[in-house]
Amino acid sequence: MKAVRKAAPGPGFEMEDIPVPEVGPGEVLIKVEAASLCGTDIHIWKWDEWSAQRVTPPLTVGHEFAGAVVEVGERVEHVAVGDYVSAESHVTCGMCFQCRTGQAHMCPRTEILGVDRDGAFAEYVALPEKVIWQNDREKMPPEIATLQEPFGNAVFAALAHDLAGQSVAVLGCGPIGLFSIGIARASGASRVLAVDLNALRLSLASTMGADAVLNAAEVGEGDAVAGWLAEANDGFGVDVVLEMSGAASAVDAALKGVRNGGRVTLFGIPSKPVTIDVAESMIFKNLTVLALNGRRIFDTWYRTRWILESGLVDVRPLITKEMPLDDFHKALELLASGQASKIVLRVGQGGETAKPSGAAHGEGAPNIRGQVVHR
Ligand SMILES: [Zn+2]
Ligand SMILES: [Zn+2]
Repeated sequence: MKAVRKAAPGPGFEMEDIPVPEVGPGEVLIKVEAASLCGTDIHIWKWDEWSAQRVTPPLTVGHEFAGAVVEVGERVEHVAVGDYVSAESHVTCGMCFQCRTGQAHMCPRTEILGVDRDGAFAEYVALPEKVIWQNDREKMPPEIATLQEPFGNAVFAALAHDLAGQSVAVLGCGPIGLFSIGIARASGASRVLAVDLNALRLSLASTMGADAVLNAAEVGEGDAVAGWLAEANDGFGVDVVLEMSGAASAVDAALKGVRNGGRVTLFGIPSKPVTIDVAESMIFKNLTVLALNGRRIFDTWYRTRWILESGLVDVRPLITKEMPLDDFHKALELLASGQASKIVLRVGQGGETAKPSGAAHGEGAPNIRGQVVHR
């Protein structure tokens, strides 16, 4: 099968022809229909410091996808051939303290799809049944279903706060920031303000429902961003700031731009340690500051499904381009250029559930759908 791979340490990816993955007990094989690119893929492609110490090539990359199950391994009970699925990208151990207390997103033994184990930029991907997420093909086409994984990040980060009737600022308008703007709007935020350095992202922020946007490059250094937030919010600090950029200056602006007693979520990941005046910026302001990562497994997935299926948030404007898997290199360059939000790679044909030749397990498996729980 075709797979986009990090063949060896160093920059770049290659398209390789590799065997279709074997499914072990408890695992299923999925024929990928759509997969989306993420900033994490860019890090691994460029082979930055983080990926050099985290990733062990050879590895198939990609962690956001949707497709159809074509084979199930022994002891798979709730997923069947033909099911149309996505997956939680964090394969957790199920046995540690975090996993057993409803905090699996913090499992210290997590293996991430496309980072620690072979991923989804390929014709087929194998995954344990326990991370499979059932989709409804009628309600969620592959190009939207693949976005559930990153959209879940925004659901987790934004809905950690009560946003109804609140002023909300989103600092950093990458996909997670842009999703968060839509979620804040759908949650009844009274005012949504957005800040970034990129004109395309700011125009998408308006599309997603931001009331006012600021290009931080135009206001200079220091407290200018916090000043603009207050100016755009009738002279007051905002109720909630979602820091999605990871820039040190934005962390500072988040703490200065929020009102006394306000709430901040730090979700963007700084590449270096950040200096914070804890006394002035946090304690004396009585702030609630949440530092969050990942998604709640699977609480966040249900909310994500309901928000997307109901049309509360329309993520289509954020799909800059759909391209065939073969064009992965062009797609990576476009994303890295800052001239795209989400790019969806088209892999197999929708609805095809033919097993790859040589597949043995799951022959004649009954086509019983895993339970899809709707509210
Ligand atoms: Zn991602
Ligand atoms: Zn665990």
